[in-house]
Amino acid sequence: MHNNPTIGIIGGGQLGKMFIENASKLAVAIHILDKDACCPAHGIAKKHLVGSITDADAIQKLADISDVITWEIEHIQVDKLIELQAQGKTIIPNPNVLKTIQDKGKQKLFYQQNNIPTAPFFVVANRIEAIEKLTVSNFKKVAIKSCTGGYDGKGVFISDVASILENPNSIPFDDALMIEEFVACKKELAVLVARDQHGNNAVYPAIEMEFTESNLVSFLISPADINPEIEKQAQQIAIQCADAFNSAGLFAVEFFLSQQDELWVNEIAPRPHNSAHHTIEGFYASQYEQLLRVLLNKPLASTEMIQPCAMVNIVGDKTGKYQLKYMEELMQLKGVYIHLYGKEESKPNRKLGHVTIVNADRNEVIRLAEKVRTLLEIEILQ
Ligand code: ADP
Repeated sequence: MHNNPTIGIIGGGQLGKMFIENASKLAVAIHILDKDACCPAHGIAKKHLVGSITDADAIQKLADISDVITWEIEHIQVDKLIELQAQGKTIIPNPNVLKTIQDKGKQKLFYQQNNIPTAPFFVVANRIEAIEKLTVSNFKKVAIKSCTGGYDGKGVFISDVASILENPNSIPFDDALMIEEFVACKKELAVLVARDQHGNNAVYPAIEMEFTESNLVSFLISPADINPEIEKQAQQIAIQCADAFNSAGLFAVEFFLSQQDELWVNEIAPRPHNSAHHTIEGFYASQYEQLLRVLLNKPLASTEMIQPCAMVNIVGDKTGKYQLKYMEELMQLKGVYIHLYGKEESKPNRKLGHVTIVNADRNEVIRLAEKVRTLLEIEILQ
């Protein structure tokens, strides 16, 4: 048996669960920290420390039993991680990356300082200052984002500037805000980069995404239907981002592709990401395999696609215990892989699972993904 380091993950959600599922192939022990005794990764973690991901003492306890620490969610106690790193603990990615990313204002300033293309923006302390600055700005339409409050589109407000000025209270947040010019997108793309502990990068092909009204990814497809020049450029920018962070880890870089074919970095997730779930079945190596290798200080794997693939999220709409109404119909489709995260209850907009669709023919992937979407009804159990 190899003497593998023990990995500790902060968070035990679906990303942690899928990471552990893959890591079990190499018999690597993984501990998790999550306050929910029934979190998705609960049943397959070696040890589950039940505690808060924002509690420094709980993180210390995870560090005490793990050789390497990583996270699968961003809203965690990052200062504790910075302290542990200073004491010599291996934390991947570098927690300073997370410190930058946790604040959307800091994140945008980082892009600006590193010449990473991103939509024009400014940062303000509150709603009053937002109105002052919007009055004199030349933005016509904006995305206003709470610097520290949001995830999955929950801290994002999109509106015409004229209507905001008419009704300032329409801005739903009053904390520090990052105000960004609205980008009329042709497409939203994402590129995943894995960076090892020696600074080597492995970059995946770009995928394109579609979103639900509440800003959750509803459907993504690989490869993206974009010209090869844009693909190359997106991959180069993604590598530029990983280089700028100068940290090992996984980086999911989300882009807007403007009507004029400009690529703007929207945001980066320094962890496994929803936009790369399809790599489990569609690629020679999944995002989880790459992260595992990075954490174990092993060579990166190939990022080549096996065949075109799509991913549809299974998202709750009602509250209660639930089942997939058309499970059997879904199971009859070739190249369709159902992932359920094991969350006890459905809630509106809660991610309960996803389905990956693979086929040699990209058009057939789209046809099947549409069919899958019609079959993803969630039935609440009485
Ligand atoms: P979150 O971090 O909560 O996922 P994002 O900043 O990614 O929030 O925004 C969620 C979604 O809102 C984006 O994927 C996009 O569809 C839309 N959006 C955000 N900012 C802009 C923008 N500047 N222009 C156009 N659409 C935007």
